[in-house]
Amino acid sequence: MSNRQTKTDVILIGAGIMSATLGSLLKELAPDWEITVFERLESAGEESSNEWNNAGTGHSSLCELNYTAEKQDGSVEISKAVKVNEEFQVSKQFWSYLVKSNLIQNPRDFIMQLPHMSFVQGERNVSFLKRRFEALSKHPLFEGMEFSDDPEQLKEWIPLMMKDRKVDQPMAATKIDTGTDVNFGSLTRKLFNHLESENVQINYKHSVDDIKRTDDGAWELKVRNLDTGVSERRTAKFVFIGAGGGSLHLLQKSGIPEGKGIGGFPVSGLFLVCKKSEIVEQHYAKVYGKAPVGAPPMSVPHLDTRLIDKKESLFFGPFAGFSPKFLKTGSLFDLFMSIKMNNVSTMTSAGLKNFALTKYLINQVMLSKEQRMEALREFIPHAKSEDWELLVAGQRVQVIKNTDAGKGTLQFGTEVIHDADGSIAALLGASPGASTAVSVMLEVIEKCFPQQIKEWEPKIKEMIPSYGGTLSERIELIRDLRDSAAETLELVNKEEDADEERRILQEV
Ligand SMILES: Cc1cc2nc3c(=O)[nH]c(=O)nc-3n(C[C@H](O)[C@H](O)[C@H](O)COP(=O)(O)OP(=O)(O)OC[C@H]3O[C@@H](n4cnc5c(N)ncnc54)[C@H](O)[C@@H]3O)c2cc1C
Repeated sequence: MSNRQTKTDVILIGAGIMSATLGSLLKELAPDWEITVFERLESAGEESSNEWNNAGTGHSSLCELNYTAEKQDGSVEISKAVKVNEEFQVSKQFWSYLVKSNLIQNPRDFIMQLPHMSFVQGERNVSFLKRRFEALSKHPLFEGMEFSDDPEQLKEWIPLMMKDRKVDQPMAATKIDTGTDVNFGSLTRKLFNHLESENVQINYKHSVDDIKRTDDGAWELKVRNLDTGVSERRTAKFVFIGAGGGSLHLLQKSGIPEGKGIGGFPVSGLFLVCKKSEIVEQHYAKVYGKAPVGAPPMSVPHLDTRLIDKKESLFFGPFAGFSPKFLKTGSLFDLFMSIKMNNVSTMTSAGLKNFALTKYLINQVMLSKEQRMEALREFIPHAKSEDWELLVAGQRVQVIKNTDAGKGTLQFGTEVIHDADGSIAALLGASPGASTAVSVMLEVIEKCFPQQIKEWEPKIKEMIPSYGGTLSERIELIRDLRDSAAETLELVNKEEDADEERRILQEV
């Protein structure tokens, strides 16, 4: 152990999208603060935020059926969908601010416009989708959504999915052109490059092994250099635990009472991926279906066009799986090590209560490639096994805690846990995930910096014009923000883009 003691204003643990976002917000709000980052891997955005480890959906409820529930009277509840959409608008505003201010460049490297669609079959599902469409399309945030139950129209929208499909039952889809595919890995790397240029000290291959409060109310971290094996103590007034799946262990080590009684349950994700251009070019959308009965909400199957390293591919999944690791690069002992005296009864209750989920996960783990192909054939009837390969994606650690709904309740959202004086905060959970990073990190700022928030408000509003109110009632603002984000982030329709390229080539 080295005796070097270094004190800094802020330490961010983990170089994923969450730390990247918090660091970038704080750099704008308090440019003089000294920020230090510790990341156990060799570079930024290598775990869940990496483009190959998540589905890259800019979650805004344009296609995800699990954000809209059917009520007893048959009407469709859209409040959750509106909330998720508003949160994504907040992310887009901040990313636009960063691009406009030239703090990050080339938005096409991390975001592209891509139609978002929902597709269902069977009379009951078609009826639900129609009612969902009627409820959402009246709302200004969902302007431009279309519905069709006409197979001819569906053939135009989703030719690959309709080819060789028996039209022996009702089927329908909704489509909205203003959805997005986001390369969260590329965005994370851009944000860390920007932070590095602003003198943020980023230490890769450094693992935070322990966190303790000091007598003066600051936090002392034990940080191990993974190249040399030497550990040193680093101290900060504020610590953000943005370690993804690794956050729960570090929160437990901090010993704050707010972290007691919380457990975590890891669910892994797998995708089938197709890179054959003759197949890829027949599909251009993210198409979400209905989750199978008993499946957790993040296992809704979807067929997505993805743009990674400037190449288009198709992703289908995610298939859920079970591994006791909390990070893709984590340890097989992660789950076991997270069980403590203060959460063992919560974890046991969760185990007893979630028998259906456990059964579902065991089933998923046992699936052969051919069985996974059968699930894909619900989307692409003629899909051939040799055209698709299996990709292991990231781990999501779902939060387990005691809530009003009972002891040991499995949570599917994200949770900010912070201590009473706001000197430490951790982010747990992973859904809707990276899409809502900016709203969630603003929540961290509001909870942990209440003394500064008044002074920072004008700057936050400059970066995120909708800050402080809901967008839903402000139709003009919604349209203004949508148009300006589309322009700054270069969110163009693929056909319009191709026309523009042809025009430029003709001019040349
Ligand atoms: C299969 C799957 C599909 C998903 N699809 C979507 C989607 O379509 N849209 C969406 O918005 N979100 C999606 N998500 C969720 C999204 O990926 C996550 O919410 C987001 O990436 C989490 O970012 P993070 O910064 O918290 O964690 P991460 O990106 O995991 O980063 C945490 C970092 O902390 C580091 N770390 C951990 N422990 C330590 C330690 N002790 N010391 C130092 N460093 C440490 C890790 O190495 C890692 O780099 C998906 C996730 C999965 C797994």
